[in-house]
Amino acid sequence: MPRTALPDRATTPSRPHLPLRPLWLCRVCAAPWPCSVARLALRQEYAHDRIGLSVYLCAVLHEAAADLYRLNPHDGPDPAALFTRFLGWARPRHLP
Ligand SMILES: [Zn+2]
Repeated sequence: MPRTALPDRATTPSRPHLPLRPLWLCRVCAAPWPCSVARLALRQEYAHDRIGLSVYLCAVLHEAAADLYRLNPHDGPDPAALFTRFLGWARPRHLP
């Protein structure tokens, strides 16, 4: 029997895990953004455009670095940690 209606849970969009700027914490779970749910959503959204995902994350990293250094200019975030947080997780695992 084909299903014509999905349960409410499937049709009601849940609150997206978006960043709260300029702190760059998740608006839903308060984890450093992108939280695990946001990463999963981004992987799904860019499933067929990994380069597009990297370009988007580079832009986000640039904005986040500017915000976070503006908030804390004397003890800003470690650049390597920012790279890992915003871009490192999206690196393809099957490259030679
Ligand atoms: Zn979240």
